[in-house]
Amino acid sequence: MTEKLILDGNVVANEVKDALKSRIQALKEKNITPCLATILVGDDPSSATYVKMKGNACNRLGIESRKIHLPKETTTEELLNTIHELNEDSSVHGILLQHPVPDHIDERQAFEAISVEKDVDGVTSWGYGQTALGFGLYPSCTPAAILQIMKHYNIDAEGKHAVVVGRSPILGKPVSALLLNENATVTTCHSRTTDLPQFLKTADIVVAAVGKPNFIKGEWLKDGVVVLDAGYNPGNIGDADYSSCYEKASAITPVPGGVGPVTISMLLKHTVDAAERR
Ligand code: NAP
Repeated sequence: MTEKLILDGNVVANEVKDALKSRIQALKEKNITPCLATILVGDDPSSATYVKMKGNACNRLGIESRKIHLPKETTTEELLNTIHELNEDSSVHGILLQHPVPDHIDERQAFEAISVEKDVDGVTSWGYGQTALGFGLYPSCTPAAILQIMKHYNIDAEGKHAVVVGRSPILGKPVSALLLNENATVTTCHSRTTDLPQFLKTADIVVAAVGKPNFIKGEWLKDGVVVLDAGYNPGNIGDADYSSCYEKASAITPVPGGVGPVTISMLLKHTVDAAERR
């Protein structure tokens, strides 16, 4: 059986956060407190939990967390006004609009309203385009987390076949671009892909970003594959079927404790980066 490496997201996240402490201290000596504004629209319990977790992570590190909670009846125009105010506020360094917003709001328009200098979650088309071209300030946090895990564990993408399952604007597409920039040969699969297992069986690296619990099966994978599971479904279940994928993998992220904690640490890092750039 292949030797296994469990890719421990808590170890990677702590390393990222530890490296931020002296940088935050240096900013505070200049009377600058890095500040992340989070906007939550409506009462979706999962979104409320994510925003709370992000706020707590900020507080633990000495980053200010400014939480803006808008009612579910908020219009696109009202949300845009809130974003414009935060863009103008020089004490705010990063803005995160929690996805998803209620259906009647034009989410894309709201994302685009975030100033690119404060787009610490890489949701604007400018941010995405710059990331794809290799000079972006802030890639989306989950794709950045996946690359950070690979860096920490010396997993080199160059020349490898990376198969990303999912093509969402915040996850599948940007992680495909980042892996391509790392010189992987990238295949991006989605709901219209015909015969997904055919692509997965030649994958050296698999990124699971489907939003379906236990979707990727170990029997579709080749021995020695690296499995990076971004999935986070109710009940703390990933998008890869852990036990069967574990059998095939040389390295695998668990859920929970894999990509999730690193995603939050990348958000903190991007906020500190943004405060320093100011
Ligand atoms: P999403 O917007 O729903 O996108 C899902 C993607 O999967 C879509 O591109 C879809 O294809 C594709 N897909 C759906 N069914 C498929 C199938 N049968 N075969 C192949 N592809 C299929 O989801 P997301 O926001 O990218 O999130 C994906 C997962 O990551 C979720 O589990 C989410 O909870 C998790 N997530 C985790 C973090 C974290 O911090 N760990 C952050 C964000 C998201 P189409 O484009 O064709 O519809």
